[in-house]
Amino acid sequence: MDKNAFFRKGGPIPSNEQSLDTRLFYHNAGIIYARYDEWKNDDRYYFIPLFMRMTYSIRGVGIELAPDPVWLGSFARCTLEHPELFQYKCPECGNIVLPFRYCGSPLSGRVDLEGECSCGWKGYEMVSGWFIRGEALRGTIISDQFRYTKSELIHPGVKPASVKELLDYLK
Ligand SMILES: [Zn+2]
Repeated sequence: MDKNAFFRKGGPIPSNEQSLDTRLFYHNAGIIYARYDEWKNDDRYYFIPLFMRMTYSIRGVGIELAPDPVWLGSFARCTLEHPELFQYKCPECGNIVLPFRYCGSPLSGRVDLEGECSCGWKGYEMVSGWFIRGEALRGTIISDQFRYTKSELIHPGVKPASVKELLDYLK
């Protein structure tokens, strides 16, 4: 069984559409990171929910890097603001890779940073430090909570956009 194919017990289960939308982020993370400044101030894009399944299950108990849904803006900001934790050099060309997903296990302490380089290389960088990375990501999400609450108060009932809508906007 895929060790990442667990959902948190009681956590939100994504619809098919939401799962596909998250995959769209995986496949287009390059442009989304590169043009972060163009969408980061728009709450509809910043709070796009991603269902990344960054959960590791031990005897049915889910231990999470961060619980789903993870806001796209928080995830991108975390990757950009913590280069020492979430960025690495492409083994092919040496350019910086910004991973679109983090997996791993608290037991081994290992994290796989899954990414795709502009040169075409795709793969993982395996690093140690599961806890420190989880803390950084959750810390970013918590620090965005205030903005989220404020946004909900100012624009009640306004739904976040989808990754597809963000990509259309960036075209
Ligand atoms: Zn490369």
